[in-house]
Amino acid sequence: MHLYGTAVINRLGHLEIGGVDTVTLAEKYGTPLYVYDVALIRNRARAFKKTFENMGVKAQVAYASKAFSTVAMIQLVEEEGLSLDVVSGGELFTAIRAEFPSERIHFHGNNKSESELKMALDYRVGCIVVDNFHELYLLAQLCEHRQQQVKILLRVTPGIEAHTHDYILTGQEDSKFGFDLQNGQAEEALTYAIENHYLDVLGLHCHIGSQIFETTGFKLAARKILEKLAEWNTSFRFKATVLNLGGGFGIRYTEEDSPLAPESYVTEMIDEVKAETDKLGLDLPEIWIEPGRSMVGDAGTTLYSVGSQKDVPNIRKYLAVDGGMTDNLRPALYDAKYEAILANRANEESKEKVSIAGKCCESGDMLIWDLPLPEASPNDILAVFCTGAYGYSMANNYNRIPRPPVVFVENGSSQLVVKRESYEDLLRLDLSYVAKSRM
Ligand SMILES: *Cc1c(COP(=O)(O)O)cnc(C)c1O
Repeated sequence: MHLYGTAVINRLGHLEIGGVDTVTLAEKYGTPLYVYDVALIRNRARAFKKTFENMGVKAQVAYASKAFSTVAMIQLVEEEGLSLDVVSGGELFTAIRAEFPSERIHFHGNNKSESELKMALDYRVGCIVVDNFHELYLLAQLCEHRQQQVKILLRVTPGIEAHTHDYILTGQEDSKFGFDLQNGQAEEALTYAIENHYLDVLGLHCHIGSQIFETTGFKLAARKILEKLAEWNTSFRFKATVLNLGGGFGIRYTEEDSPLAPESYVTEMIDEVKAETDKLGLDLPEIWIEPGRSMVGDAGTTLYSVGSQKDVPNIRKYLAVDGGMTDNLRPALYDAKYEAILANRANEESKEKVSIAGKCCESGDMLIWDLPLPEASPNDILAVFCTGAYGYSMANNYNRIPRPPVVFVENGSSQLVVKRESYEDLLRLDLSYVAKSRM
């Protein structure tokens, strides 16, 4: 069994996180329940920042809030002194409500609407990561109209697509994001932006993928971008002050995953950028990164109550829990794998393999296939590990199932930071139908 962060098995044989017994948490807050290990999140934030400090590189570590965006999480990120990525008006609104300093907010997205761009300008976000020509022209027009300057990065696709276990090098990357670095699009965007008085181009951004386990892709991307920057240094006298290499650092979900320590990705990136800038005679830019999953993924655990079972003799045993694809869409969406234990019987030997089913009316609503477990009975508590990223943020109300609450645990105490959705909440936007004949 692999335990994450502050998780231990206590003397009652229960899973304990942040010094709090998860069985007590399940009793107090009900299930399903998302539990976050605050100390683990703080440690990650500090490790990323410290790596840059130790290597003497100016940096911004921006938490990619799409992984898990709530007011409390954003406040925690602010407390740790990170920057923040948002990808929509809703995420920006969450950050503003959390009183996150807007100059440390970076605004992403491949189809930002006019009202989202206006919102970003109203709040004077620190940087808008411009993705495409439509946005570039629209932003320039808005800024001109408002007589307001804005700092931007241009998102480029360097033609490197990194996957979990490998990377693909393509001449022209087939991606919906960013200006192509190879075919002249990036130059065209840059020349437009540097000639525009209202747009202040800080540099370039790329994000090559997610759940990446090795550093080759990041290094290749950095090299390609720096080579371009060296060209532009000569041809346009353009000096980039920022190089944003995105996020995507992989984490361990199951024993099949072998990520590097989060800060190792950064160390190798920095070494590469230093070596390349030296070689090309460029000044060392600030390096920005955008970890999402690696900040919160393994800090989150979901607690469920075990309910019904179905034994299909000689084939498999299904064990149903009181949640599923509504609180964790990843297995249904991309066949994501998880590990889990019985939180109230954490010391017991596994006796059988069971498959964990959700409660939605959908055969695809399966959380884990073939999980070794002790023989479970109704009301045992199943703890699924590593649900902290893209879990709550992708939660939905399929079958009109209310979304679970979120609890932060730290130093022996727990704090509710998102309430359980009620049936009333589910209906808050519903209006009655009034037949035309009666109007
Ligand atoms: C999603 C995303 C991230 C974070 O990715 P993780 O895999 O969660 O680290 C960072 N930057 C951009 C632009 C993204 O779209």
